Order: sequence, then C-alpha cells, then structure tokens
Amino acid sequence: MEKKKLFIAGHRGLVGTATLQALSARTDYEVLTRTHDELDLEDRDATRAFFLEHRPDHVVMCAAKVGGILANSNFPVDFLHNNLRIQLNVFDAAHEAGIDRMIFLGSSCIYPRDCPQPIKEEYLLTGPLEATNRPYALAKIAGVESCWAFNRQYGTRYLAVMPTNMYGPGDNYHPEHSHVLPALIRRFHEAKTKGDPAVVVWGSGTPRREFMYSSDLGEAILFLLGLPEEKFAELTRANATPLINIGVGEDVTIREVAELVKATVGYTGELRLDATKPDGTPRKLLDVGRLASLGWKARTPLAVGLKNAYRDFVERHG
Ligand code: GDP
Repeated sequence: MEKKKLFIAGHRGLVGTATLQALSARTDYEVLTRTHDELDLEDRDATRAFFLEHRPDHVVMCAAKVGGILANSNFPVDFLHNNLRIQLNVFDAAHEAGIDRMIFLGSSCIYPRDCPQPIKEEYLLTGPLEATNRPYALAKIAGVESCWAFNRQYGTRYLAVMPTNMYGPGDNYHPEHSHVLPALIRRFHEAKTKGDPAVVVWGSGTPRREFMYSSDLGEAILFLLGLPEEKFAELTRANATPLINIGVGEDVTIREVAELVKATVGYTGELRLDATKPDGTPRKLLDVGRLASLGWKARTPLAVGLKNAYRDFVERHG
C-alpha cells in the first residue's frame, strides 16, 4: 500500500505531540513535521514553498498561538492576528498544493458563552462569545468558516474539529499563562515541595469544565482522518458546516478538579479559592453525539490521565 504523506502543522504543541504519538504505531503514513525555526507559518512565501515542494496528502493543522485565561487577556492582538495569519497561509498553501484532507483544530471556546449544555455543533454563532478569549475564538471561527468556504467553492475536504479542554504530556506549565490543569499541577507540586501551607485556586471554584487526555485526542484525529471516503465526504459536504466536537461527554467543577490534582500530587495543605480572579464561562461541556455516532469514544478517565500528566511534569520540570 502506498503511504500517505501527512503534515502535522504545530507538532510540538499538546495536540501535535499527541497526534505524533498516536501515529507512532501506524505504517500507512509518512509523517512530515517542521519546527518553528525550520518553517515559520506566519511567513506566507515560506509556507507556500513548503507545501508546493512536499505536496502532503493530508494535513493536521494544530499550529496556533494558545494560552489560558490570563494570556488571552494580556495578548489579544497576538491571539487574533498571529492565528489569523497562520491560518490564511496554511489554508491558501494547502489548497494550492491540492491536499486531499485537512483537519483544522479549534477549541470549544468558539461557542457562545451562554449556549445550552451540552454544546452541539449547530450552536456556533448563535450568541455572544465569552469576552476573556474572544480574539482567539474569533480567529478559530474564521478557521471553521475557511474550511467551509473552501469546501463550497472548491470541493475540498477540510474538517474543523473542536476539542474540549485538554491536558497531557508536553503541556504548557507556565504558572500564570497556562490553562487551569497544568497551572494547578505546577502550583500544588511547588507548594508540596516548599511545604507551603495553602494553594490558591482562581475564581469561585464553581465553573464546570470537561477535560480530555491529549492522547485520546490524538487517536480521535487519526480516527477521523482515516474515515472511509463516503463518511469523510458526508462530514465535509458543501451544504453544512464541517464541524465536529471532540470531548469525553462529562464535566467537573473547578473545585473538584483542584481537589483531584491535590490528591494526585499528594499535597496535604489547604486549598483556597481566590474570588478576585475571573471565572470565565460558567460551563463548557461538549455534546459528542456526532463523534459517537461515527463509532469513537474517549477512553482515559480523568484520574488516570492526571497521574500520567503529573509524572510527565515531574520528569520535565520537577
Ligand atoms: P477557560 O476554560 O478558557 O476559561 O480557560 P482556563 O483553563 O484558563 O480556566 C478555566 C477555569 O479554571 C476558570 O474558571 C479559571 O478561573 C479557573 N482556574 C483556577 N485556577 C486557575 C489557574 O491557576 N490558572 C488558570 N488558567 N485557570 C484557573
């Protein structure tokens, strides 16, 4: 069988790392990757030249500027403009090079702040966005629209996937700019190491979030990429938004997840909530019915994934 050429844009991030990991057991793909130093996707000419030289069959587009609630409010221009630039360059170059299938990674923050839960794909653009990450969300919504526009105008097969909050090996553990899970892993670990009496968790503790272990997402991406032609064509048909949620189907409160991190790390001090910090969206649970109907389901329980993530954190940063 002839191998398909698969380009992972952004292979060093959390999603890219997990996709590469999932690919390690596969012999039907020749995987192409480039570091940021080797190929800057914000450079239009370099991106075009790369695609025309290598002509990948498939692309997993997970290159993006990402970050947590604080990074989003401190760097709104970066989150909007860098992401738009990367996306424009990759979509245009991919189309020019005639790639067959693309999976574009978004995030559940593209959905309206107050939409009904669990969130179905068709709720996109039905209400105002959460203000704390609106620039990022708008860039990603533009990416969904690009997928659809290319499919309509050129008959391409570009599919946008919206993963829920993710965590896992290789995560960004920046103390202030990362997402909640890696931030708490670091904070509880450091408090345990230093013997601090208390750990601060931002917000009221009541927002609900769904967390997915990154290797599950890597597997979901390969599952979708490998769907038979008629199924992939149905997902990317011209008359419907080519959008599919990827999640685990259940959520927990921030307080519950903080307690779980505390137990995983083995910290015995106090957990203190800081209500002066923002809560963000009250709840974010994806409806994963569409993905389930195709035959895929996440398999890593939160407690198991957290143990692995913590082990990885200790190896890299501990
Ligand atoms: P969001 O899902 O887009 O809101 O992004 P985050 O992962 O940054 O935040 C999720 C929730 O966790 C929010 O309610 C935060 O207030 C809460 N949270 C609690 N402690 C932390 C922390 O140390 N870092 C971050 N980023 N969020 C925290």
